[in-house]
Amino acid sequence: MPASPSAPEDFADLIAANQTFSESFALSGFDGIAHAGVAIVTCMDSRIDPLGMLGLVPGDAKIFRNPGGRVTAAALEALVLGVHLLKVERILVVPHTRCAMGSASEDELRAKVGASAGQDASWQGFHVVHDQIDALRQDVAAVRTHPLIGERAKVGGFVYDVDTGLLQQHF
Ligand SMILES: [Zn+2]
Repeated sequence: MPASPSAPEDFADLIAANQTFSESFALSGFDGIAHAGVAIVTCMDSRIDPLGMLGLVPGDAKIFRNPGGRVTAAALEALVLGVHLLKVERILVVPHTRCAMGSASEDELRAKVGASAGQDASWQGFHVVHDQIDALRQDVAAVRTHPLIGERAKVGGFVYDVDTGLLQQHF
């Protein structure tokens, strides 16, 4: 089925909320640096509030999210920009408990997506995590050993508990 264009009413509630948001908008003229010097790589999971969990507010941090909160090539690209151009001095890599990317196999995710789509999804890659702490260790190492990041930023690896809101540092 070809993708159909969206109609204005598809987003009407969100655009109305945006009008209200704009009425008290406080970030006008903001320079876009990370005011708290913080960058966060975390999962797309909707249970995670990356700023709130660290006591930060909009403007404080650069945030990169993907399934699993993995340090991918795109995440490293973002961190290089953050460290060199956006005043990032501390980097937190934050996967979380009960993450779908850590509790299902790639074949299981393909089967679920395929069932939802009503068509073959075996060609779609999903970067599942077999050992979350080992993956975190590797991801933190990938940041620390990046030639353009290295010693320029402190790098920590944490797991966020979606049931308690607590961070536990592992690396
Ligand atoms: Zn997740």
